[in-house]
Amino acid sequence: MRHVVVLGGGFGGLAVARGLAGTDTRITVVDRRNHHLFQPLLYQVATASLAPSDIAEPIRSILARSSHAAVRLAEATRIDLPGKRVRIAAVEGSDDQPSWLEYDWLVIALGVEQSWFGQTAWEEVAPGLKTLRDALEIRRRILMSFEEAEWTEDDAERQRLLTFVVVGAGPTGVELAGAIAEIALTTFRRDFRNFDTRTARVVLVEAGPAVLASYPEDLRAKARAQLEDLGVEVRLGKPVSEVDANGVVVDGERIHAATVLWAAGVKAPAIAATLGVEQDRAGRIVVGPDASVPGHPEVFAVGDIAHFEQEGAPIPGVAPVAIGMGHHVAACIRADLGGGTRPTYAYKDKGQMATIGRRRAVLQSGRFKASGMFAWLAWVFVHLMVLVTYRNRLLVFIKWAWAWLTYERASRLIWQTEKPPTIED
Ligand SMILES: Cc1cc2nc3c(=O)[nH]c(=O)nc-3n(C[C@H](O)[C@H](O)[C@H](O)COP(=O)(O)OP(=O)(O)OC[C@H]3O[C@@H](n4cnc5c(N)ncnc54)[C@H](O)[C@@H]3O)c2cc1C
Repeated sequence: MRHVVVLGGGFGGLAVARGLAGTDTRITVVDRRNHHLFQPLLYQVATASLAPSDIAEPIRSILARSSHAAVRLAEATRIDLPGKRVRIAAVEGSDDQPSWLEYDWLVIALGVEQSWFGQTAWEEVAPGLKTLRDALEIRRRILMSFEEAEWTEDDAERQRLLTFVVVGAGPTGVELAGAIAEIALTTFRRDFRNFDTRTARVVLVEAGPAVLASYPEDLRAKARAQLEDLGVEVRLGKPVSEVDANGVVVDGERIHAATVLWAAGVKAPAIAATLGVEQDRAGRIVVGPDASVPGHPEVFAVGDIAHFEQEGAPIPGVAPVAIGMGHHVAACIRADLGGGTRPTYAYKDKGQMATIGRRRAVLQSGRFKASGMFAWLAWVFVHLMVLVTYRNRLLVFIKWAWAWLTYERASRLIWQTEKPPTIED
């Protein structure tokens, strides 16, 4: 039986695996994590609304009924195009030896990673938001800042602890900044005794001229107004020139901040370079009209890691694109199996939406545009519906309903700091 290797169990990889059900193929989905992650709600884990398990599900259980597909928990480290094989290595905690996986078709759906534009020193001080580990680290930093602010006697230090800088005003930066401002204004208000949590300062810094650059101009303005309504300071048109443990420097001015969060750029994972084919500036694999790698019709790239051009511009790195490309690649492999002609991929823009906190959001679909409460309700509905399992949908719905009624955040535990107790003489 012919073998399809799918690298990545994200939106794109799962769409391929499911789309090949019933074909005469054997499928192996390789992922270095045992879970599929619903990244659009990661910021809610980072800001204590949801728990990690609310937005993640084992890939093995998602594919439990797809008996044609096996799951391999391993890290893909190299692709050997002439040899039609992929090198896989053990993940942390496993003693498996590196080995080669041979394929008849290969689908690369490995997503992208955070990029600090080559500033490696910034990675430690300004975490990005791509994985559950990132989200938990951000949550720890935010919660610890409030804890420390409660007991410091130095006013300047308290202000530094209560200043949060978010770099990058795309959807992730906007959602993070809005959620942090909301925590300070509402959730934490009654919980601290020695300071007013409303004095917290949230600064959103963007090198470009607007927040949510991919939205129409009027929605960008509305998003900015809704952020400012929550007290977020929006600084546009100037990049950060320094990031360190004491904050950032923007346009020559230092902003003293204990928490700096990075939502500014992405790059393809290093494995993309092992193909030896054309990549774009962010390292994404340039693919042809059927999403295959030029010169290698048996190899496809889908989702965020693929650079697919339509009408002269690359299509965006969003979940519906990854899913759509995944379905398309499954159709191509079906065509190959049946001796037919492969379809070409055509991206249809279904619109975009971003939320800025309770009752605030912006939404654009074709010519239709909305902001405020209606857009927020639409955002809630869509995100509930696209969560991968019924269990997640139910859990998230209950937590959101509770948060709406009480202003509480369900997941405020700080657990990464736990150490064995030390007894001082
Ligand atoms: C914070 C955040 C918010 C977002 N919000 C939205 C939104 O509101 N709407 C929207 O449409 N999109 C949103 N996106 C983008 C969306 O999540 C991506 O477009 C989508 O996940 C891309 O799917 P993919 O299958 O290409 O990659 P991914 O979903 O990233 O999956 C890649 C998979 O590959 C695995 N992997 C990576 N490297 C290796 C390796 N070397 N070996 C083995 N496995 C590996 C990973 O573990 C992962 O499971 C958001 C993204 C982020 C980070």
